[in-house]
Amino acid sequence: MQAEIITIGDELLIGQVVDTNSAWLGQILNKQNIKIRRINSISDDAAEIKDMLSDCLKRSELIIITGGLGPTKDDITKKTLAEYFGMGWRIDQDVLSQLETFFKQRGREMLEANKLQAELPDNCITLKNEWGTAPGMWFDVNGKVVISLPGVPHEMKNIIEFKALPLIQKKFKQPELYHKTIITINVPESLLAMNIADIEDSLPNYIKLAYLPNMNMVRLRLTGTGDHGIKEEINAIADKLINRIGENVVVDEDISLPELIFNMLAKSGQTLSVAESCSGGIISHQLTLLPGISKVFVGAVISYSNSVKHHQLGVENTLFETVGAVSEQVVVQMAKGVRERLQTDYSIAVSGIAGPSGGSDDKPVGSVVIGVCSKNEVIVKKHHFIGDRANVINRSANAAFDMLRLLILKEQ
Ligand code: ATP
Repeated sequence: MQAEIITIGDELLIGQVVDTNSAWLGQILNKQNIKIRRINSISDDAAEIKDMLSDCLKRSELIIITGGLGPTKDDITKKTLAEYFGMGWRIDQDVLSQLETFFKQRGREMLEANKLQAELPDNCITLKNEWGTAPGMWFDVNGKVVISLPGVPHEMKNIIEFKALPLIQKKFKQPELYHKTIITINVPESLLAMNIADIEDSLPNYIKLAYLPNMNMVRLRLTGTGDHGIKEEINAIADKLINRIGENVVVDEDISLPELIFNMLAKSGQTLSVAESCSGGIISHQLTLLPGISKVFVGAVISYSNSVKHHQLGVENTLFETVGAVSEQVVVQMAKGVRERLQTDYSIAVSGIAGPSGGSDDKPVGSVVIGVCSKNEVIVKKHHFIGDRANVINRSANAAFDMLRLLILKEQ
Protein backbone atom coordinates (compact mmCIF):
# COMPACT_ATOMS: atom_id res chain seq x y z
CA MET A 1 0.00 0.00 0.00
CA GLN A 2 1.10 3.55 -0.65
CA ALA A 3 0.58 6.87 1.07
CA GLU A 4 0.79 10.50 0.09
CA ILE A 5 1.10 13.63 2.13
CA ILE A 6 -0.50 16.95 1.24
CA THR A 7 0.66 20.00 3.19
CA ILE A 8 -1.51 23.06 2.73
CA GLY A 9 -0.44 26.66 3.26
CA ASP A 10 0.75 29.63 1.23
CA GLU A 11 3.47 30.11 3.84
CA LEU A 12 5.02 26.79 2.78
CA LEU A 13 5.19 27.82 -0.86
CA ILE A 14 6.94 31.12 -0.22
CA GLY A 15 9.47 29.55 2.13
CA GLN A 16 8.21 31.39 5.21
CA VAL A 17 7.65 28.08 7.00
CA VAL A 18 9.69 24.95 6.30
CA ASP A 19 7.55 21.86 5.79
CA THR A 20 8.74 19.81 8.74
CA ASN A 21 5.35 18.08 8.99
CA SER A 22 6.06 16.01 5.88
CA ALA A 23 9.50 15.01 7.10
CA TRP A 24 8.09 13.81 10.41
CA LEU A 25 5.13 12.04 8.80
CA GLY A 26 7.53 10.39 6.37
CA GLN A 27 9.53 8.94 9.24
CA ILE A 28 6.46 7.72 11.08
CA LEU A 29 4.87 6.08 8.02
CA ASN A 30 8.18 4.56 7.01
CA LYS A 31 8.45 2.90 10.41
CA GLN A 32 5.07 1.31 9.69
CA ASN A 33 6.47 0.05 6.36
CA ILE A 34 4.06 2.30 4.50
CA LYS A 35 5.63 3.56 1.30
CA ILE A 36 5.31 7.29 0.77
CA ARG A 37 4.73 7.82 -2.90
CA ARG A 38 4.70 11.61 -2.98
CA ILE A 39 4.81 14.66 -0.77
CA ASN A 40 2.78 17.55 -2.16
CA SER A 41 2.66 21.14 -0.93
CA ILE A 42 -0.15 23.37 -2.18
CA SER A 43 -1.70 26.77 -1.46
CA ASP A 44 -4.82 27.52 0.62
CA ASP A 45 -7.08 27.26 -2.41
CA ALA A 46 -10.21 25.08 -2.63
CA ALA A 47 -9.75 24.11 -6.29
CA GLU A 48 -6.09 23.17 -5.66
CA ILE A 49 -7.06 21.06 -2.66
CA LYS A 50 -9.78 19.19 -4.59
CA ASP A 51 -7.54 18.62 -7.63
CA MET A 52 -4.69 17.34 -5.52
CA LEU A 53 -6.97 15.07 -3.52
CA SER A 54 -8.42 13.56 -6.71
CA ASP A 55 -4.91 12.87 -8.03
CA CYS A 56 -3.78 11.34 -4.75
CA LEU A 57 -6.84 9.11 -4.46
CA LYS A 58 -6.08 7.71 -7.94
CA ARG A 59 -2.59 6.69 -6.85
CA SER A 60 -2.62 5.95 -3.13
CA GLU A 61 -4.58 4.27 -0.36
CA LEU A 62 -3.75 6.63 2.49
CA ILE A 63 -3.66 10.42 2.16
CA ILE A 64 -2.64 12.60 5.08
CA ILE A 65 -3.36 16.32 4.83
CA THR A 66 -2.00 18.94 7.23
CA GLY A 67 -2.96 22.61 7.58
CA GLY A 68 -5.88 24.94 7.15
CA LEU A 69 -8.06 23.73 10.03
CA GLY A 70 -7.88 26.86 12.17
CA PRO A 71 -10.75 29.20 13.02
CA THR A 72 -9.77 31.98 10.59
CA LYS A 73 -11.17 32.70 7.12
CA ASP A 74 -8.05 31.51 5.32
CA ASP A 75 -8.48 28.05 6.88
CA ILE A 76 -10.58 26.35 4.24
CA THR A 77 -9.57 22.69 4.40
CA LYS A 78 -12.54 21.41 6.43
CA LYS A 79 -15.14 23.16 4.26
CA THR A 80 -13.41 22.02 1.09
CA LEU A 81 -13.28 18.39 2.23
CA ALA A 82 -16.98 18.42 3.21
CA GLU A 83 -17.82 19.77 -0.26
CA TYR A 84 -15.52 17.28 -1.97
CA PHE A 85 -17.06 14.29 -0.20
CA GLY A 86 -20.60 15.73 -0.48
CA MET A 87 -21.13 15.66 3.28
CA GLY A 88 -23.39 17.69 5.54
CA TRP A 89 -22.46 18.95 9.01
CA ARG A 90 -22.79 17.78 12.58
CA ILE A 91 -21.78 19.23 15.92
CA ASP A 92 -19.39 16.93 17.78
CA GLN A 93 -20.57 17.39 21.38
CA ASP A 94 -17.36 15.91 22.82
CA VAL A 95 -15.26 18.43 20.91
CA LEU A 96 -17.61 21.24 21.92
CA SER A 97 -17.32 20.48 25.62
CA GLN A 98 -13.55 20.03 25.26
CA LEU A 99 -13.39 23.50 23.66
CA GLU A 100 -15.51 24.99 26.46
CA THR A 101 -13.13 23.58 29.06
CA PHE A 102 -10.12 24.72 27.02
CA PHE A 103 -11.28 28.36 26.98
CA LYS A 104 -12.55 28.32 30.57
CA GLN A 105 -9.21 27.04 31.88
CA ARG A 106 -7.43 29.87 30.07
CA GLY A 107 -9.95 32.50 31.18
CA ARG A 108 -10.68 33.35 27.56
CA GLU A 109 -13.99 34.01 25.91
CA MET A 110 -15.01 31.35 23.41
CA LEU A 111 -15.83 33.11 20.15
CA GLU A 112 -18.33 31.94 17.54
CA ALA A 113 -15.37 31.06 15.29
CA ASN A 114 -14.03 28.77 18.02
CA LYS A 115 -17.41 27.07 18.54
CA LEU A 116 -17.46 26.33 14.83
CA GLN A 117 -14.40 24.13 15.32
CA ALA A 118 -16.75 21.54 16.84
CA GLU A 119 -18.74 21.49 13.61
CA LEU A 120 -17.46 18.63 11.47
CA PRO A 121 -18.41 16.90 8.20
CA ASP A 122 -21.12 14.43 9.18
CA ASN A 123 -19.43 11.26 7.94
CA CYS A 124 -15.94 11.66 9.27
CA ILE A 125 -14.46 10.11 12.39
CA THR A 126 -13.23 12.74 14.86
CA LEU A 127 -9.56 12.54 15.83
CA LYS A 128 -9.52 14.55 19.05
CA ASN A 129 -6.89 17.24 19.42
CA GLU A 130 -5.69 17.21 23.06
CA TRP A 131 -3.26 20.10 22.53
CA GLY A 132 -5.28 22.55 20.44
CA THR A 133 -8.70 23.58 19.24
CA ALA A 134 -8.90 22.09 15.72
CA PRO A 135 -9.77 18.36 15.73
CA GLY A 136 -8.38 16.01 13.12
CA MET A 137 -10.73 14.12 10.76
CA TRP A 138 -10.65 10.60 9.31
CA PHE A 139 -12.61 9.95 6.09
CA ASP A 140 -13.21 6.43 4.79
CA VAL A 141 -13.39 6.64 0.99
CA ASN A 142 -14.19 3.32 -0.74
CA GLY A 143 -11.52 1.38 1.14
CA LYS A 144 -9.07 4.28 1.07
CA VAL A 145 -8.47 6.75 3.89
CA VAL A 146 -8.05 10.52 3.96
CA ILE A 147 -6.87 12.08 7.22
CA SER A 148 -6.96 15.83 7.75
CA LEU A 149 -4.89 17.33 10.56
CA PRO A 150 -4.02 20.79 11.90
CA GLY A 151 -0.83 22.35 10.56
CA VAL A 152 0.68 23.17 13.96
CA PRO A 153 3.43 20.53 14.27
CA HIS A 154 3.02 19.47 17.91
CA GLU A 155 -0.77 19.19 17.58
CA MET A 156 -0.43 17.19 14.36
CA LYS A 157 2.13 14.83 15.91
CA ASN A 158 0.03 14.23 19.00
CA ILE A 159 -3.07 13.34 16.95
CA ILE A 160 -1.09 11.01 14.69
CA GLU A 161 0.65 9.18 17.53
CA PHE A 162 -2.29 8.71 19.84
CA LYS A 163 -5.37 8.80 17.62
CA ALA A 164 -4.59 8.09 13.97
CA LEU A 165 -1.75 5.58 14.13
CA PRO A 166 -3.68 2.86 15.98
CA LEU A 167 -6.43 3.15 13.35
CA ILE A 168 -3.92 3.10 10.48
CA GLN A 169 -2.23 -0.02 11.89
CA LYS A 170 -5.58 -1.75 12.20
CA LYS A 171 -6.71 -0.85 8.71
CA PHE A 172 -3.46 -1.42 6.78
CA LYS A 173 -1.51 -4.43 8.08
CA GLN A 174 2.00 -4.33 6.65
CA PRO A 175 4.85 -6.90 6.57
CA GLU A 176 7.70 -6.18 8.98
CA LEU A 177 10.25 -3.58 7.95
CA TYR A 178 13.70 -3.60 9.50
CA HIS A 179 16.19 -0.72 9.48
CA LYS A 180 19.75 -0.75 10.68
CA THR A 181 21.73 2.48 10.75
CA ILE A 182 25.48 2.95 10.89
CA ILE A 183 26.80 6.46 11.47
CA THR A 184 30.23 7.35 10.08
CA ILE A 185 32.33 10.47 10.48
CA ASN A 186 35.21 12.18 8.64
CA VAL A 187 35.01 10.09 5.49
CA PRO A 188 33.43 11.60 2.36
CA GLU A 189 30.41 9.82 0.92
CA SER A 190 32.15 8.99 -2.39
CA LEU A 191 35.15 7.44 -0.64
CA LEU A 192 32.88 5.50 1.66
CA ALA A 193 30.90 4.18 -1.32
CA MET A 194 34.11 3.08 -3.04
CA ASN A 195 35.34 1.31 0.07
CA ILE A 196 32.15 -0.74 0.50
CA ALA A 197 31.21 -1.16 -3.19
CA ASP A 198 31.60 -4.96 -3.23
CA ILE A 199 29.38 -5.39 -0.14
CA GLU A 200 26.77 -3.08 -1.64
CA ASP A 201 26.84 -4.91 -4.98
CA SER A 202 26.21 -8.23 -3.28
CA LEU A 203 23.03 -7.11 -1.47
CA PRO A 204 19.89 -9.09 -2.34
CA ASN A 205 17.19 -7.00 -4.02
CA TYR A 206 15.00 -6.95 -0.89
CA ILE A 207 17.69 -5.14 1.11
CA LYS A 208 18.54 -1.54 0.23
CA LEU A 209 21.45 0.62 1.31
CA ALA A 210 20.97 4.41 1.54
CA TYR A 211 23.63 7.07 2.08
CA LEU A 212 22.48 10.11 4.07
CA PRO A 213 25.32 12.64 4.32
CA ASN A 214 25.12 15.58 6.72
CA MET A 215 28.08 17.85 7.47
CA ASN A 216 31.12 15.66 8.18
CA MET A 217 28.97 12.59 8.87
CA VAL A 218 27.25 9.98 6.72
CA ARG A 219 24.37 7.88 7.94
CA LEU A 220 24.26 4.49 6.18
CA ARG A 221 20.85 2.89 6.38
CA LEU A 222 20.14 -0.73 5.53
CA THR A 223 16.45 -1.45 5.00
CA GLY A 224 14.71 -4.72 4.29
CA THR A 225 11.26 -6.22 4.32
CA GLY A 226 10.43 -9.84 4.93
CA ASP A 227 8.81 -12.29 7.25
CA HIS A 228 11.70 -14.59 8.14
CA GLY A 229 15.15 -13.73 9.40
CA ILE A 230 15.36 -10.26 7.85
CA LYS A 231 16.71 -8.78 11.06
CA GLU A 232 19.52 -11.34 11.34
CA GLU A 233 20.39 -11.01 7.67
CA ILE A 234 20.63 -7.21 7.86
CA ASN A 235 22.62 -7.33 11.11
CA ALA A 236 25.16 -9.67 9.48
CA ILE A 237 25.59 -7.23 6.55
CA ALA A 238 25.92 -4.34 9.01
CA ASP A 239 28.73 -6.21 10.80
CA LYS A 240 30.58 -6.58 7.49
CA LEU A 241 30.20 -2.86 6.80
CA ILE A 242 31.37 -1.91 10.29
CA ASN A 243 34.47 -4.10 9.96
CA ARG A 244 35.28 -2.62 6.60
CA ILE A 245 34.77 1.05 7.59
CA GLY A 246 36.69 0.63 10.83
CA GLU A 247 37.46 3.64 13.00
CA ASN A 248 35.24 6.01 11.01
CA VAL A 249 32.18 4.24 12.43
CA VAL A 250 30.70 6.31 15.25
CA VAL A 251 27.80 4.10 16.26
CA ASP A 252 25.56 1.38 14.84
CA GLU A 253 22.22 2.86 15.81
CA ASP A 254 20.20 5.82 14.65
CA ILE A 255 21.14 8.29 17.37
CA SER A 256 22.82 11.67 17.27
CA LEU A 257 26.38 12.29 18.48
CA PRO A 258 25.19 14.24 21.55
CA GLU A 259 22.90 11.32 22.43
CA LEU A 260 25.81 8.93 22.08
CA ILE A 261 27.98 11.06 24.39
CA PHE A 262 25.08 11.28 26.84
CA ASN A 263 24.68 7.49 26.86
CA MET A 264 28.40 6.88 27.30
CA LEU A 265 28.78 9.31 30.20
CA ALA A 266 25.49 8.39 31.87
CA LYS A 267 26.58 4.75 31.88
CA SER A 268 29.79 5.54 33.70
CA GLY A 269 28.21 8.23 35.91
CA GLN A 270 30.58 10.90 34.57
CA THR A 271 30.01 14.57 33.87
CA LEU A 272 30.76 17.13 31.17
CA SER A 273 31.29 20.89 30.91
CA VAL A 274 31.79 23.02 27.82
CA ALA A 275 33.65 26.23 26.92
CA GLU A 276 32.40 27.63 23.65
CA SER A 277 33.74 30.55 21.67
CA CYS A 278 32.87 30.46 17.94
CA SER A 279 30.24 27.74 18.46
CA GLY A 280 28.36 30.21 20.68
CA GLY A 281 26.43 27.65 22.72
CA ILE A 282 25.35 25.19 20.04
CA ILE A 283 27.13 22.30 21.75
CA SER A 284 25.40 23.11 25.04
CA HIS A 285 22.10 23.58 23.21
CA GLN A 286 22.35 20.18 21.49
CA LEU A 287 23.01 18.60 24.87
CA THR A 288 20.17 20.37 26.64
CA LEU A 289 17.69 19.12 24.04
CA LEU A 290 18.16 15.62 25.48
CA PRO A 291 15.79 14.69 28.31
CA GLY A 292 17.68 13.61 31.43
CA ILE A 293 20.93 15.33 30.38
CA SER A 294 21.29 17.04 33.77
CA LYS A 295 22.85 13.79 35.03
CA VAL A 296 25.79 14.43 32.71
CA PHE A 297 25.91 18.05 31.55
CA VAL A 298 26.87 20.41 34.35
CA GLY A 299 27.17 23.73 32.52
CA ALA A 300 28.98 25.87 30.01
CA VAL A 301 30.84 29.12 29.61
CA ILE A 302 30.07 30.93 26.37
CA SER A 303 33.42 32.68 26.24
CA TYR A 304 32.99 34.64 23.06
CA SER A 305 35.24 37.52 24.06
CA ASN A 306 38.84 37.28 25.21
CA SER A 307 37.88 38.97 28.43
CA VAL A 308 35.43 36.15 29.28
CA LYS A 309 38.04 33.57 28.29
CA HIS A 310 40.40 35.23 30.75
CA HIS A 311 38.08 36.05 33.64
CA GLN A 312 35.80 33.01 33.57
CA LEU A 313 38.20 30.34 32.36
CA GLY A 314 41.59 31.61 33.46
CA VAL A 315 43.17 31.87 30.00
CA GLU A 316 46.39 33.92 30.24
CA ASN A 317 45.97 37.36 28.66
CA THR A 318 49.42 37.25 27.05
CA LEU A 319 48.33 34.36 24.83
CA PHE A 320 45.83 36.56 22.99
CA GLU A 321 48.71 38.85 21.94
CA THR A 322 51.24 36.15 21.14
CA VAL A 323 49.37 33.19 19.60
CA GLY A 324 45.81 34.55 19.33
CA ALA A 325 42.44 33.31 20.60
CA VAL A 326 42.21 30.65 17.88
CA SER A 327 45.20 28.62 18.98
CA GLU A 328 46.01 25.32 20.60
CA GLN A 329 47.44 27.06 23.67
CA VAL A 330 44.25 29.06 24.33
CA VAL A 331 41.96 26.08 23.72
CA VAL A 332 43.98 23.91 26.10
CA GLN A 333 43.53 26.55 28.82
CA MET A 334 39.82 26.92 28.01
CA ALA A 335 39.29 23.16 28.28
CA LYS A 336 41.27 22.85 31.51
CA GLY A 337 39.70 26.01 32.93
CA VAL A 338 36.10 24.97 32.41
CA ARG A 339 36.72 21.42 33.63
CA GLU A 340 38.38 22.61 36.82
CA ARG A 341 35.95 25.44 37.55
CA LEU A 342 32.84 23.37 36.91
CA GLN A 343 34.43 20.26 38.44
CA THR A 344 33.53 17.77 35.74
CA ASP A 345 35.15 14.58 34.52
CA TYR A 346 35.37 15.78 30.93
CA SER A 347 35.24 19.08 29.08
CA ILE A 348 35.05 20.37 25.53
CA ALA A 349 36.50 23.70 24.32
CA VAL A 350 36.08 25.34 20.93
CA SER A 351 37.61 28.48 19.43
CA GLY A 352 37.58 29.36 15.75
CA ILE A 353 36.77 31.70 12.91
CA ALA A 354 33.25 31.00 11.64
CA GLY A 355 33.36 33.81 9.07
CA PRO A 356 32.47 35.25 6.68
CA SER A 357 35.06 37.83 7.85
CA GLY A 358 37.85 37.67 10.40
CA GLY A 359 40.11 35.22 8.56
CA SER A 360 43.80 35.75 7.72
CA ASP A 361 46.41 33.91 5.60
CA ASP A 362 47.55 32.20 8.71
CA LYS A 363 44.09 31.41 10.06
CA PRO A 364 41.55 31.46 7.25
CA VAL A 365 37.78 31.41 7.81
CA GLY A 366 36.82 27.90 8.90
CA SER A 367 39.90 27.45 11.13
CA VAL A 368 38.64 25.93 14.36
CA VAL A 369 40.66 24.59 17.25
CA ILE A 370 38.88 22.00 19.39
CA GLY A 371 40.03 20.56 22.67
CA VAL A 372 38.70 17.77 24.86
CA CYS A 373 39.96 17.24 28.35
CA SER A 374 39.83 14.66 31.12
CA LYS A 375 41.71 14.45 34.39
CA ASN A 376 44.47 12.57 32.55
CA GLU A 377 44.98 14.52 29.37
CA VAL A 378 43.97 17.28 26.98
CA ILE A 379 43.68 16.45 23.29
CA VAL A 380 43.64 19.42 20.98
CA LYS A 381 43.28 19.53 17.24
CA LYS A 382 43.22 22.20 14.53
CA HIS A 383 40.46 21.77 11.96
CA HIS A 384 39.67 23.54 8.77
CA PHE A 385 35.98 23.43 7.88
CA ILE A 386 34.53 24.64 4.62
CA GLY A 387 31.10 26.18 4.09
CA ASP A 388 29.23 29.18 5.42
CA ARG A 389 29.07 30.37 9.03
CA ALA A 390 26.33 27.92 10.02
CA ASN A 391 28.23 25.05 8.41
CA VAL A 392 31.47 25.86 10.21
CA ILE A 393 29.62 26.09 13.53
CA ASN A 394 27.72 22.83 13.04
CA ARG A 395 30.78 20.96 11.83
CA SER A 396 32.71 22.23 14.86
CA ALA A 397 30.04 20.81 17.16
CA ASN A 398 30.11 17.42 15.40
CA ALA A 399 33.90 17.29 15.47
CA ALA A 400 33.98 18.24 19.15
CA PHE A 401 31.54 15.50 20.10
CA ASP A 402 33.51 13.00 18.03
CA MET A 403 36.81 13.96 19.69
CA LEU A 404 35.19 13.54 23.08
CA ARG A 405 33.77 10.16 22.01
CA LEU A 406 37.27 8.94 21.12
CA LEU A 407 38.73 10.21 24.39
CA ILE A 408 35.99 8.53 26.45
CA LEU A 409 36.45 5.27 24.50
CA LYS A 410 40.20 5.39 25.13
CA GLU A 411 39.73 5.93 28.85
CA GLN A 412 36.84 3.61 29.52
P1 ATP B 1 -4.30 27.08 13.29
O1 ATP B 1 -5.29 26.68 14.32
O2 ATP B 1 -3.02 27.57 13.92
O3 ATP B 1 -4.81 28.03 12.25
P2 ATP B 1 -4.15 25.21 11.09
O4 ATP B 1 -4.53 23.82 11.00
O5 ATP B 1 -5.02 26.18 10.35
O6 ATP B 1 -3.96 25.66 12.58
P3 ATP B 1 -2.11 26.39 9.64
O7 ATP B 1 -2.78 27.71 9.86
O8 ATP B 1 -2.06 25.86 8.28
O9 ATP B 1 -2.74 25.29 10.56
O10 ATP B 1 -0.67 26.45 10.27
C1 ATP B 1 -0.45 26.88 11.58
C2 ATP B 1 1.05 27.00 11.82
O11 ATP B 1 1.59 25.68 11.84
C3 ATP B 1 1.80 27.72 10.68
O12 ATP B 1 1.93 29.10 10.87
C4 ATP B 1 3.14 27.07 10.75
O13 ATP B 1 3.93 27.72 11.70
C5 ATP B 1 2.84 25.66 11.19
N1 ATP B 1 2.77 24.77 10.03
C6 ATP B 1 1.74 24.60 9.17
N2 ATP B 1 2.03 23.67 8.25
C7 ATP B 1 3.28 23.23 8.51
C8 ATP B 1 4.15 22.29 7.91
N3 ATP B 1 3.78 21.56 6.85
N4 ATP B 1 5.36 22.09 8.46
C9 ATP B 1 5.74 22.81 9.55
N5 ATP B 1 4.97 23.72 10.16
C10 ATP B 1 3.75 23.95 9.65
